Amino acid sequence: MSKLSTLFRYFFTPKKFKSREQIERIQRKGMRKQAKFVRKNSPFYARHWDGIQDEQWSEFPLIDKSIMMENLEDLLTVRLDVDKARKLADNAEKSRDFSPKIGPYSIGYSSGTSGSRGMHFVSEKEQAGWAGFMLARGLDGSIFSKHRIGLILRANSNTFESVGSNRIEFKFYDLMKPLEEIHESILQDELDILIGPPSVLRYLADVKSPLKVRKLVSAAEVLDDIDRTYIEAHFGQIVHQFYSSTEGEIAATCEYGTLHLNEEIMVIQKQWVDKEKGWYHPIISDFKRKTQPIIRYRLNDILVTSKQPCKCGDARESIESIMGRQDDIFLLEKKSGDGFEQVIPDFIRRAVMQMHPDITAYCAIQKSPKEIEIQLLPEGLEDISLQGFEQVWEKMKTIQPSISLTKYSFKPSTTKLRRIRRDFELSIK
Ligand SMILES: [Zn+2]
Repeated sequence: MSKLSTLFRYFFTPKKFKSREQIERIQRKGMRKQAKFVRKNSPFYARHWDGIQDEQWSEFPLIDKSIMMENLEDLLTVRLDVDKARKLADNAEKSRDFSPKIGPYSIGYSSGTSGSRGMHFVSEKEQAGWAGFMLARGLDGSIFSKHRIGLILRANSNTFESVGSNRIEFKFYDLMKPLEEIHESILQDELDILIGPPSVLRYLADVKSPLKVRKLVSAAEVLDDIDRTYIEAHFGQIVHQFYSSTEGEIAATCEYGTLHLNEEIMVIQKQWVDKEKGWYHPIISDFKRKTQPIIRYRLNDILVTSKQPCKCGDARESIESIMGRQDDIFLLEKKSGDGFEQVIPDFIRRAVMQMHPDITAYCAIQKSPKEIEIQLLPEGLEDISLQGFEQVWEKMKTIQPSISLTKYSFKPSTTKLRRIRRDFELSIK
């Protein structure tokens, strides 16, 4: 049964869309059906949408992670004991046995960095359909050829194992294990496709791995330009990307390496951060997810729209980059004394790269409004320049924070790599 729905979804996921009309037709039909189903089965959404017709789904009130977690039990379209599920998921994490289930529902925990951890419930049918979708986006060959796909993950998922067959085989590598060990197994397994966090792909490039695969896919962390450069140079191929969060599969790359939004499974609206520059928070409405519906859900990530259409001709909207999350934005005191200025990761990235021409890796952490910590590789670089930063502060009219250099400490592991991040909370405005 589940194999069938995987295949079904694979064949019915077109690789390209000809026009915006075609996509919008799919979305309108999908959302109308979804709104009706969700209103009927989710007590939370029924309350949340009170007084608003299904046809006006594009104006339903927003939700976000905290609203979802506060109302989780009611938000689901099936009645499950969320407390019990939480205990099961906790135990699974500890024992590294990742198959906690309540009936046909798998339970997942997302690693939240900002305190609140997300929890998600997926039915067997959704899992199989989702796997088919991912295969359609990830495989660049027929589903009937042989594929051996390696996944380097923080948590195993029975999603992938459920679609394993004699033609498509999944190999799973647990990031709890030492990297040398993971590397060795990857080499032995003779993979066709390798999917993993960019920090691990970068590690493989740094150790000059002799690995040869048809396709490399970065997932689970934002792919920083510095890592992309090293990975692509070493392996001599494009690094593809799956951009997803616990809330859904948001985008994947085409053959040119451009990220296209997965508009055939979700509507992605924009909450502008800066319209002129094309920066926005995506508001996602997934019309395929049934167990835990995600409708008008505002993500903390900031995306950058593409100015030009992609050469591949796909009508799905593309994005230039994933800028990062709201808490990757630095906050600096305005000279005018009138609160704080937001400095986006891209400015920080450029300033760091100007510190020295030989930088191979970095982390920039804002510790407090007055304090930035920079970690650089290789160690012992001399004649470090802070000019790039000084230009930013001057342009943004902010008070100069102190910048200190500390030892580079990140090692690819179960901790996510965030090259630029802010370590304190501040409510602005
Ligand atoms: Zn494209």
